[in-house]
Amino acid sequence: SYTPTESAEDADLVVLNTCHIREKAKHKVLSRLGRLKELKEKNRNLKVAVAGCVAQAEGKKLLEQSSAIDVLIGPGKIHELPNLLSTQAKVGGQPMATGFAKDLKQFDAERMSCQESAQQANPEGVEPALQGKNEVSRFVNIQVGCDNFCTFCVVPFTRGREMSIPPTEILTNTKKLLAQGAKEITLLGQNVNSYGKDLVRQARVAKTSDGPFVDLLREVAALPGLERLRFTTSNPHDMTAPLAQLFAQQPKLGAYYHLPLQSGSNKVLEEMRRKVTREQYLQRVEWLRHARPDIALSTDLIVGFPGESEEDFEQTLDLMRQVRFSFVFAFMYSKRKGTAAIRFRDQIPEEVKKARLQRLNQLQDKITLELNHQEIGQQREVLFLYPSNKEQHVYYGRTEHFRLVKVCSPRPLTGQLAHVEITHANKTALEGRLL
Ligand code: SAH
Ligand code: SF4
Repeated sequence: SYTPTESAEDADLVVLNTCHIREKAKHKVLSRLGRLKELKEKNRNLKVAVAGCVAQAEGKKLLEQSSAIDVLIGPGKIHELPNLLSTQAKVGGQPMATGFAKDLKQFDAERMSCQESAQQANPEGVEPALQGKNEVSRFVNIQVGCDNFCTFCVVPFTRGREMSIPPTEILTNTKKLLAQGAKEITLLGQNVNSYGKDLVRQARVAKTSDGPFVDLLREVAALPGLERLRFTTSNPHDMTAPLAQLFAQQPKLGAYYHLPLQSGSNKVLEEMRRKVTREQYLQRVEWLRHARPDIALSTDLIVGFPGESEEDFEQTLDLMRQVRFSFVFAFMYSKRKGTAAIRFRDQIPEEVKKARLQRLNQLQDKITLELNHQEIGQQREVLFLYPSNKEQHVYYGRTEHFRLVKVCSPRPLTGQLAHVEITHANKTALEGRLL
């Protein structure tokens, strides 16, 4: 069995978990593998596994590109890691497992076998000591895959079909994390608003008026010990009014919502196959602001999608001015193999993408700074997540609006909720003092 180490130099197993969403990721993996190859020369016991979406998408091709890899494993096959490692130890080579469960039944069986192998590796059920950032704030998977096939996006190919984990299992997993000291839970899926539709179709959860995702949020929010409940990613297409209304009823949801827009132009949205218009997006913003007037919103934006004209891009900027997001994740469009948009005409030159990204970020920086400045003098409830690793007696937490706050305190704050008066603000964070 393995225990966590601080650095790759001390490890006998390194697992590279990889992301394939944009092209850059693969280059990073290859350069990491180069460095690991050197480490393997020093430590003959060192095994290297490549996991995640690059492993899924590249498979054998990646094995051919790097002899440093001992084991390759896709996101749908994580439970096979112990088997692959023992096969590799016995017969050598570069064993691999990729692909996905084809239906809910197989998906259930694979999760069971995942739990069993975790149980075998760790019979006493003692979790490795948790340290730092993730201890207070933990993630719980509620759904895998995606069925949306937005034309720019590789996720449906690297993550397979959309399938939901049953509510009972989510509640069990969440309780376990709360028992370990977690205070904030983020429910994870590519399209959380459509959570459970498959389970309803199979009559495994009841059909209700607010739908399975809202029902799940209510149940998780009621768990004792939980201070904050967040979720991501919420696709505007499947977002409902009852979900927005929950923000008026359930304080644990806080006052923050991440709602990916991608573009402010209806023409581009249609080409992206996002299935929402600019007007529908603004209506959802309206729902949220009606339920919780102070809600902070963030979004994802892509610049330079094929065919994006200067005018289309201006519409994105215009929408940003209208909504005033608290922050934005903006990306230059990246061509992904297998997706529809790779074949679209009128691909945008890199320099144009870069210039647009820069303009967009300039505008957003200004808005973020203005909104952060408005926080000065306000009293906020902050959940403290981790101590500073540079300064003594300094702790970082987030407000109910998801803004990062730095606070000086003689007593330890990690894991606690406390009231803070905001005293300073810059583009990336706030500073405050304990009340
Ligand atoms: N499921 C989420 C998005 C997950 S991917 C949703 O539908 O909202 C996270 C973000 O990566 C996307 O919102 C998009 O902004 C960005 N992204 C995805 N594919 C991309 C591509 N090919 N090029 C650039 N950005 C991309
Ligand atoms: Fe990708 Fe999200 Fe669209 Fe699914 S909904 S295809 S994950 S962008």
